[in-house]
Parts: sequence; C-alpha cells; structure tokens
Amino acid sequence: MTTFDNTLNADGALIVGAGLAGLFTALKLAPRPVTVLSPKPLGMGASSAWAQGGVAAAIGAGDSPRAHAQDTEMAGAGIVDHGTAEGVTAEAVARIEDLARWGTPFDRDDFGNFELGREAAHSANRIVKVEGDRAGWAIMQAIIAQVRRTPSIRVVEGITALSLARDNGRIVGIYGRRLGDRYSEPIFIRARATILAAGGLGGLYAVTTNPPGVRGHAMGMAARAGAIIADPEFVQFHPTAIATGADPAPLATEALRGEGAILVNDLGERFMPAIHPDAELAPRDIVARANFRQIQSGRQVFLDTRAALGDTILNRFPTVSRYCREAGIDPVNGMIPVTPAAHFHMGGVKVDERGRSSLPGLWVCGEASCTGLHGANRLASNSLLEAVVYGARIAEDIGGLEPQRDLAPFKGIEWNEAEGNQAETVLRNTVAVQDLRRVMSDLVGVERDAQGLREALRRIAHLEVSAEQVTSAYLNMTTSATLVAAAALKRNESRGGHFRTDFPEPSERWEHHTEMTLDEALAIRAGA
Ligand SMILES: Cc1cc2nc3c(=O)[nH]c(=O)nc-3n(C[C@H](O)[C@H](O)[C@H](O)COP(=O)(O)OP(=O)(O)OC[C@H]3O[C@@H](n4cnc5c(N)ncnc54)[C@H](O)[C@@H]3O)c2cc1C
Repeated sequence: MTTFDNTLNADGALIVGAGLAGLFTALKLAPRPVTVLSPKPLGMGASSAWAQGGVAAAIGAGDSPRAHAQDTEMAGAGIVDHGTAEGVTAEAVARIEDLARWGTPFDRDDFGNFELGREAAHSANRIVKVEGDRAGWAIMQAIIAQVRRTPSIRVVEGITALSLARDNGRIVGIYGRRLGDRYSEPIFIRARATILAAGGLGGLYAVTTNPPGVRGHAMGMAARAGAIIADPEFVQFHPTAIATGADPAPLATEALRGEGAILVNDLGERFMPAIHPDAELAPRDIVARANFRQIQSGRQVFLDTRAALGDTILNRFPTVSRYCREAGIDPVNGMIPVTPAAHFHMGGVKVDERGRSSLPGLWVCGEASCTGLHGANRLASNSLLEAVVYGARIAEDIGGLEPQRDLAPFKGIEWNEAEGNQAETVLRNTVAVQDLRRVMSDLVGVERDAQGLREALRRIAHLEVSAEQVTSAYLNMTTSATLVAAAALKRNESRGGHFRTDFPEPSERWEHHTEMTLDEALAIRAGA
C-alpha cells in the first residue's frame, strides 16, 4: 500500500472534474497554477467525450447571437435568464475560436468556413461539428493534448472528490479518495480557489446516456456543504437512446432526425406528426414523452433512418453506426430500437454570471452548475457552449494567483487500471446504487405525479439509512436524488423537462426558477 501525507497542497486553484468544463477552465487559467482531479485517465468517464452533435454558435451567414438567444429562451419554456442567454450566445464565436486554436479539427468547407449542422428547435444551421457525430471525442482529444503540454497544469488521475472542505465559511479544497480505496482516511487537498466541474446526474437513473461516474456527485457535494441549488427538478430525457439493454445506453443523435429520420412503432405507425407540427423535430421533452407513452402502452419504438440516409449513415454518423454494429443492429437495412434516457441536467449548483456559487471560494461550471441558460429545457448543443463560456469567465474571475510552471506531481497518487476498473464495477453493481437508480427512473422520470414523488422520497430516505455502508459518495447521490424529487414535488405544474400527470399544464405562478437548499429538500422529504 502506498503511503503519503494526507494533506496535499494544490498551490493555487483546484478543479474537480476533467470534462470539457474542467479542462477548458484549466487552460484559461494558465500560466496560473492549477491542479485538475480526474477519477480516471483524462478523457475517460466524462460526458463531454461522448457528445455527438457539437457546439451551438451563431456563426453562419444571416444568423445572429440574438436569434440563438431567442431559440434558447423559446426552448427553455419561459424561465431562461434573458441576460444569460444573450451573454453566452454573444461569446460563442470567441470560445469556438479558442477550441479551434487548441487543435479541434472542426468540419469546414473548401473555403475554410465551418460546416454547420442543424438540430431541433434551432432556427438556423448553427452546430459546429467534427466528422459528423464525433465532436465531443475530437474536442476532448485536442484539449487533453493541450493540457498535457501546459506546465502550469497538474493533472491527478485516480482521485474522486467526496466532500468540499470548509474553513470559516469558505471552501478551501476537497476531501477525496483514490478510486477503489474505501477504507483509508480521506485525503485533504487544500486550494486557494475550488472549481467544481464534476458533471451532471444522468447516471442516477437506471436508463441513461451518461457515463457511469456521472451520478450527481457534484450537486450532492455542494448541497451538503450548504450551497444553493437551482432548478434541480429539470432533467432532460433524450428521446432516442439506442435500446439494446446496455448500461449506459448509447445515443442516436438528434441530428439523425435533423436529416429526416422518422420515429415509428412496431406496428409501423409514424406517431409524431399527430402530436406536434414539427413532428420528430419537436422539442426534446415532447418527443421523449411520445416515445415513453408508446412504450408504456406496450409498443416498441424505432428510429428509421433508411429513407433519409440510406447507407450514407455509415460515413456521416460513424459513432451511431459503430454503436449499432456492436449491438447487432443494421441501420442501413433495418431500424434502430430506441428509448428515452436521462441525458442532461438543466439544474445544478446556482452560480452568478462569473460562475461563483453561493459559497465563498467555490466556483462551479459545466453541467454541475445552473447558470439559468437552459431554463426548463436545454436547447440542443448549448451545454458544451455553456461549459466553455463559464470556464473562461471563471478563469478571468479568479484573482491573486501568481504564474507558476512545472508543478510537482502528487507523490503516490496515480491511476491504477486494474484497481480503478474493479472499483467501478463494484460501485456500479452495488445493490443500493441500483435500487436508487430504479427509484429515480420509475418515480422521478419522464412523467411524475405527487404520489410517486412522495414514494420516491420515502424510498430514497430508506436507502440512505439502510445502505450497508453509507459512504460520502453514496450520500452525494442520495442528496442529489432528494433534491430532484423534492423540487419536482413542490413544482405543481408541467414545464419543459418536468412533466406532472397530475398538473399537466404550465402555471404562471411557477414561471420562475426553483432555489433550494438541502435543508429544505430534507424537510420536504420528511413530510412525504
Ligand atoms: C451521449 C451524450 C451526447 C451529448 N451530446 C452533446 C452535444 O452534442 N452537444 C452539447 O452541447 N452537449 C451534449 N451533451 C451534453 C454535454 O456532453 C455535457 O453537458 C457536457 O459535456 C458536460 O461537461 P462537464 O465538463 O460539465 O461534465 P463531464 O464531461 O461529464 O465531466 C465531468 C468530469 O467530472 C468527473 N467527476 C465526476 N464525479 C467526480 C468526483 N466525485 N470527483 C472528481 N471528479 C469527478 C468525471 O469523471 C469527469 O471527468 C451530450 C451528453 C451525452 C451524455
């Protein structure tokens, strides 16, 4: 067993999480010293690397940040922060240029102009993409290479944060553990500024498109430290995860429907045109509910790409084609079975326009945060954009760090593949974790009602006290689950990603964000 001092010093800023939000912030902080924590080797375990569509930016002729902001507000169902939408869309081009400068090979035409894709609810072609559906992977490869070349960034692979450390009301770092090491004392990593970029919570659901480690740890940790959480009830379910039974479920990107692919049930009936004038390109929540209801009524749902794409799917959507091949599905001659899956969290740790949370010393960016950009429903491809815009703002906001080069590695902490993979398998198969995920999918999912939400809260409370070992990691998950269910119970209306069968219409009374602390969520849970 390796031994090391249990207190480590980050020398400057500490970033928890190594998806696009974390790594982009680290690069923007350079040459100021920063330590980045990643539970696994860089690139693994992050939703960012799995993004298929791309990054939204008003870059094409005739498009404008104003139009992009308007589409964002329309998708967000009445509760997008107007100023946030205007600000983020205005900064999009500059951040895309950063990504290109750091080596992302965006698709371009013969004249060097970006080739732009289209996704649902965008009024223009504005998705900057790579090789059709490989944007996330390509962006992350480029960014990781840049991070590895940057001497002021210390990358620590193999550490998971468990709790935020507080001193006199200020966040001063984190307590963490090596992945798989459940028994030794947590390590304290001290930092002048702590940036939480540990992703969303899709993996809290039994059916999800998110990587296994993305399970609400960030929001749970921050809430346990007292942070204000915003809009936790708004979870986006992607309508077309590929239904192979795999966990996580691979995604069939919305861009396929953008290209004309249609949804049919096992009777061969196309059902979307009767539900919404935009048919398969209706807002995500509407398509997800339509698919959910088909499945609830005993039907199967398929994505039929044959007429729209034929065999061009193989070259134009290599990632989806590979997922199909691995599952024994032939998308050229057959149809792709699909199901709704938890995909993106609109809510998160409430931050201001500089990325500051309500806790001094703690900044939050990426899917872990709630900036007010997404409202009740995220517009496709706005999340990678939000991650880079707020990463840049946070780096600008953090003052008082002197440039420094060549940070020494933390001795004794390194990724051990065998141990790490085994730990993940154990975590994944833990009965308490699986039970929690089932509760979330069954009772806090695509459709909700008061009775089911109360039942969910009681069951989460029971799981929390009866789990064989209540670790901080599990508490982070049950905390996030409690916040989602409590806020969903409180919001007596339907809006965007939050649909209540007992309150199926939006209510003017609820045309605002939710703000909640863990204490309030626990009080709602106690009364359930
Ligand atoms: C399949 C899929 C396709 C998508 N397609 C698109 C798209 O085309 N366009 C778009 O804009 N968005 C897309 N999204 C959403 C987008 O990918 C995410 O919202 C975005 O990548 C979030 O970035 P992030 O850096 O906040 O989190 P992530 O990329 O998820 O990174 C989180 C990081 O935190 C780490 N972490 C987790 N817990 C801990 C802990 N306790 N301690 C330390 N580290 C921790 C993880 O290991 C990971 O490194 C997609 C999402 C998925 C799942």
